[in-house]
Amino acid sequence: MNKEFNVDDVRLQFPILAEKVYKKNLIYLDNGATTQKPLAVIDVYDNVYRKVNANIHRGVHHLSNVCTDLYEKARQIVARHLNAADSSEIVFTRNTTESINLVAYAYGDKFVGPGDEIVVSEMEHHSNIVPWQLLCQRRGAKLLVAKVSDHGELDMGQLAGLLSERTRIVSIAHVSNVMGSVNDVRTIVGMAHSVGAVAVIDAAQSVPHQAIDVQSIGCDFLAFSGHKVYAPLGSGALYGRRDLLNAMNPWMAGGEMIDKVSFAGTTFAEPPLKFEAGTPDYAAAIALGAALDYVDGIGMDVIEAHEASLVKRTLDGLLAIPGVRVIGQAENHASAVSFLVDSIHPYDAGMILDKLGIAVRTGHHCAQPLMDRFGIVGTVRASFALYNTADEVDALLNGVEWVKKMFS
Ligand code: PLP
Repeated sequence: MNKEFNVDDVRLQFPILAEKVYKKNLIYLDNGATTQKPLAVIDVYDNVYRKVNANIHRGVHHLSNVCTDLYEKARQIVARHLNAADSSEIVFTRNTTESINLVAYAYGDKFVGPGDEIVVSEMEHHSNIVPWQLLCQRRGAKLLVAKVSDHGELDMGQLAGLLSERTRIVSIAHVSNVMGSVNDVRTIVGMAHSVGAVAVIDAAQSVPHQAIDVQSIGCDFLAFSGHKVYAPLGSGALYGRRDLLNAMNPWMAGGEMIDKVSFAGTTFAEPPLKFEAGTPDYAAAIALGAALDYVDGIGMDVIEAHEASLVKRTLDGLLAIPGVRVIGQAENHASAVSFLVDSIHPYDAGMILDKLGIAVRTGHHCAQPLMDRFGIVGTVRASFALYNTADEVDALLNGVEWVKKMFS
């Protein structure tokens, strides 16, 4: 690990971490849902509204041009961060959900037809299931589901068996938001391409935790949420291969996405603007650029190593507590750990942890099919970010012991 990484220094950059909860230090382990924001992001966002705010793209005046430049610079930062070939392959969206829906409508409605098949997995977030279900209903296609092993790993053999010349789209999470299982997306993309399908990667839980290289992964589309990687709410992006973006239908229609409008017919702007109808949340997008600059300044490999040590400490600690069941023990495990304590309902466990100042998420985590797969109603999930510490992990483990005591 980089010797210069000092988690105490990092924490000073996140003002909210100094807040008290029930007079206790806040221990924020709900980063899979959303992350806290560093000053580098808050200041840039604040500056947009204090100093440069003006609607982008159509203005001739100074502020509009400044804001447009910042917005397009942010697009370049996202492209660099993901190693996209060109910034025109980055479409700004509000979040992962919008990015996946964009592909389902703009690509799916054009290229998926009756009898075609779309493949997802049992470990997907609802936002990587429901858009495909709706697409299947619209187009008479069929949704096939790759299975998850008892350990929480994707069954690659069974996935291979689902693929055929009927497969049009394979859409898989890079990292499970429930179990932290890391999927071998490069191999999955290769499998999808070998049958002529496009590969969509839901990177909501990987972009915050590891370096992403879309060219090396080889994916056709990749979706992520800015708010899970230290950026403001309302910022997200879709990476799409340029030739595919060119070939796709427009999605939302209105201002910004057009070339020429007349009642005889309308022509559309080139990607990415073709997919950015209406005034975007440019303040959030600009601050997304600041967030990615911030994590790149620390180094994604450094963040990954730091978080890996927290995940390992959590898993080792939980597995040593009698009566704790860890849901998902994949060999390749990142960022999130899900568990159950004896037969205690996850909500009850979560409420007791909350009283100790520990914020965890409880419930089905928008992954009900995965809950069904394991025959459970939900889990307690601790999910990590670069500012979490080994002491916080130990507080969680002590908290779990406390939960057990309360119910014994
Ligand atoms: N996909 C995964 C794997 C997620 O974890 C989440 C959110 O938790 C989403 C998609 C949806 O993200 P958003 O609500 O930001 O669109």
